[in-house]
Amino acid sequence: MISETSKAWIQAAKILAENPAARVRCPEKADGFLTVHDEAIPGNPTRFERYLVCDVCGARNVLLMRE
Ligand SMILES: [Zn+2]
Repeated sequence: MISETSKAWIQAAKILAENPAARVRCPEKADGFLTVHDEAIPGNPTRFERYLVCDVCGARNVLLMRE
């Protein structure tokens, strides 16, 4: 059984994987919006990590992205 919070993170990840500028509510508490920043993975030029962080409570998740 997958929790509602997990479903909300999956939904947020789908939206932000396609459009990092989208305004997505915090999946944990719906208290703020997720901010996105990308970080390169040293030694792995075909992938990068996309961090999703709530601007209010700091809830976070990381997506592994392909270039
Ligand atoms: Zn939050």
